[in-house]
Amino acid sequence: MGDHKKQDISLSIFDDIYAMEGVQRTLPKYKLPEFEHDPESVYQVVHDELLLDGTSRQNLATFCQTYVDKQIHTLMDECIDKNMIDKDEYPQSAEIEARCVHILADLWNSPSAKDTLGCSTTGSSEAAMLGGLALKWNWRKKRAAQGKSTDKPNLICGPVQICWHKFARYFDVELREIPLEGDRLGMNVEEVLKRVDENTIGVVPTLGVTFTCHYEPVKAISDALDKLQKETGLDIPIHVDGASGGFLAPFCTPELEWDFRLPRVHSINTSGHKFGLAPLGVGWVVWREAKCLPEELIFNVNYLGGNMPTFALNFSRPAGQIIAQYYNMLRLGRDGYRKIHSACYLTAQLFAKELKKFGPFDVLFDGDMTKGIPAVSWKLKDEFKSSGYTLFDLADRLRTRGWQVPAYSMPANREDMVVQRILIRHGVSLDMVSLLLDDIKRSLDYFAAHPISKPLTREEGEGFHH
Ligand SMILES: *Cc1c(COP(=O)(O)O)cnc(C)c1O
Repeated sequence: MGDHKKQDISLSIFDDIYAMEGVQRTLPKYKLPEFEHDPESVYQVVHDELLLDGTSRQNLATFCQTYVDKQIHTLMDECIDKNMIDKDEYPQSAEIEARCVHILADLWNSPSAKDTLGCSTTGSSEAAMLGGLALKWNWRKKRAAQGKSTDKPNLICGPVQICWHKFARYFDVELREIPLEGDRLGMNVEEVLKRVDENTIGVVPTLGVTFTCHYEPVKAISDALDKLQKETGLDIPIHVDGASGGFLAPFCTPELEWDFRLPRVHSINTSGHKFGLAPLGVGWVVWREAKCLPEELIFNVNYLGGNMPTFALNFSRPAGQIIAQYYNMLRLGRDGYRKIHSACYLTAQLFAKELKKFGPFDVLFDGDMTKGIPAVSWKLKDEFKSSGYTLFDLADRLRTRGWQVPAYSMPANREDMVVQRILIRHGVSLDMVSLLLDDIKRSLDYFAAHPISKPLTREEGEGFHH
């Protein structure tokens, strides 16, 4: 083709993308455009808008994965067209999902890991709904069989993630959430026992409380409920919200008894996309034994001419995250998970140590792997509360360097207590964290040099935290 001909084709082919007609406009926000546009230029403008989201790797608020390796990108791409619900059409994806369930059941010491039931979900929230529903159904069946009323179910928990509030509201269960009191920032045996009665469908301890990063005492609560059963006959099951801890404790704190080693633990949920290291969009719920999941909640779908039990709130769902979960399990094994998470705990501990040296902060959680998740949380010391800035101002200041470090107030009855927290997860390296420490120091110096006349209040400053 001669040069003159090339020029004839269309000027726009050689136009710089930002000189193109479609790009030289603000984007429609309320109406579907009438006509098509060139994919390259539309890609570019959408891509550019997303710059405003910031860098997810610097979002230290999230528990979710912001780093995945190359092979996961490839597998996700290969699975983009696979629907997890089509067990018959994609039998190997279904098989891989089942393998993950049994591997988790084994990791959590189920007495019948090979035959028990469980499923993937979109995250721990859906998994919590399913776990909660199973508790409710089992309780109702038992009550009905005894000829007793079934209209006032309640569930006991500590300071839970919002998904349990949703469960309670959507499925009509009274949530008996133990309020915080003074220095007690989670559930304990005494507070649980104060609230149990014949209408309690279950107790939900959290392994890795979002507000404090702590593991709640599952074994102590289980022992106390054993004793209660001996004394009163009340048999109250436990569901553990292991959104974070379910993929941490088995590797880093194997001696901690929180899982199916305790017969009272009937079900556990976890987020594959948190410390399971899978990309966003996968959670798991597993029952101790098949008999803990009431049959009435299971739907059978046709699977290779046979029947495949399914239990889910969604229908169509992408399979890639589940495949990536299985990839991680094979790629890392127990030792690989242990190494990655241990490195995160170590980074958290070093960060906590350095942060303390600055002076104004009381470290509330320092990344102790026997007590909770790889994270650090802190508050302003009382004597620094009137030094002209709040943790909300600090969060705001750090934002100028791209860091997202949330400050938030605790749940009832400690709303007065404002804390700040960072999550250390795969890909949050010691080097990154040392840069953050420099920026915190720089912010403190800035506040000293430029006192704030009106520090941010809780109402103004409270952003989103998980
Ligand atoms: C993150 C989290 C949830 C919700 O999990 P998703 O996977 O985001 O749906 C529930 N409980 C706890 C303790 C969590 O940390």
